[in-house]
Amino acid sequence: MSRTALVTGGSRGIGLAIARELAAAGDDVAVTYRSGEPPEGLFGVHCDITDTAQVDAAFKQVEEEYGPVEVLVANAGVTKDQLLALMSEDDFASVLDTNLTGAFRVAKRAVRGMMRKRRGRIVLVSSVVGLLGSGGQANYAASKAGLVGFGRSLARELGSRGITVNVVAPGFIETDMTAALPEERQAEIKKNVPLGRFGTAEEIARTVRFLSSEDAAYITGAVIPVDGGLGMGH
Ligand code: NDP
Repeated sequence: MSRTALVTGGSRGIGLAIARELAAAGDDVAVTYRSGEPPEGLFGVHCDITDTAQVDAAFKQVEEEYGPVEVLVANAGVTKDQLLALMSEDDFASVLDTNLTGAFRVAKRAVRGMMRKRRGRIVLVSSVVGLLGSGGQANYAASKAGLVGFGRSLARELGSRGITVNVVAPGFIETDMTAALPEERQAEIKKNVPLGRFGTAEEIARTVRFLSSEDAAYITGAVIPVDGGLGMGH
């Protein structure tokens, strides 16, 4: 029987690749999109994850279309890079609000149905930066590190209900987010990646598909790096 999967920020980049991968594996996949149009061939629900009412409305739409969400991928995220001395409190708080509190909002809404079904998969998209730190990204790194403690706490809370919660920590992946980096910075980063290149969104998607599959039934609370060796397993 097909499962209902919801991917936040699934209109482009890593989220879209994850959504397509889960759909190819046979899930009924819905994505949230905030700007632009929903992606072709996928059920799109408009949602800004910083707004609890919009999150609730999006879940209702997905439930009406496909039934309760059994696989949740909290992928939506933003950067607002700046050195600490120059970073506004608003730029700190808004990145936390999207990347960390956004994951809280969608996970809280999703677990209701999962607990009732006594099965579920939650995958949180963190970053190698959350584990290594990154100058100019204190807000982003804090939000991504926060997802690790959040996810591991959920893994403990929800394990007895047959729900697994795991974190994927991508390294540098070819998307709009990294295209925004100056070329010299991109070259410098590649020098520190043992595999010598950026990853693809599909490489993240395949790991998420595995973690949300039956094959990963005994994996929970894990942080899986997909980073070409940049973080050396952290
Ligand atoms: P993109 O910038 O390409 O896409 C970000 C996605 O998040 C978009 O779909 C965007 O929607 C959505 N989004 C942002 N803010 C909100 C919000 N408030 N409500 C709803 N949706 C929102 O990013 P990537 O695909 O590169 O990244 C996806 C995830 O992977 C992020 O969490 C990112 O931090 C993480 N990651 C990325 C890495 C990389 O190298 N690219 C490395 C490590 C982690 P919209 O299009 O409407 O703005």
